[in-house]
Amino acid sequence: MLYLYGPLIRAGSGFLRITLTPYKTCDFDCIYCQLGKTKDLTAARKEYIPIAEIIGEFRAWLENYAQSIGQLNYITLSGSGEPILNEKISQLIAQIKSLTDIPVRY
Ligand code: SF4
Repeated sequence: MLYLYGPLIRAGSGFLRITLTPYKTCDFDCIYCQLGKTKDLTAARKEYIPIAEIIGEFRAWLENYAQSIGQLNYITLSGSGEPILNEKISQLIAQIKSLTDIPVRY
């Protein structure tokens, strides 16, 4: 999987992380960023990663990891950069919600 990571368990909560941008594409370059220096410092919004590809992976994840669904408390939109730079984030959330009742958070 290229855009999905998990399930991850932290502090008793399980989540599946979905990334919507290439590595370190962000509108900030925070000195404390755990991912290192920003590679693409931008405020431009566009479909950095096609939502159809992400949803394709999500459908495959639901099929292949059905036994892990009960471990998930959240689906988290984060990962390798700033997710709201992906201009199709609202469509992605709508499609995720059409496939599962697991809460989505940012
Ligand atoms: S990913 Fe988060 S912490 Fe890292 S530079 Fe961007 S806003 Fe800052």
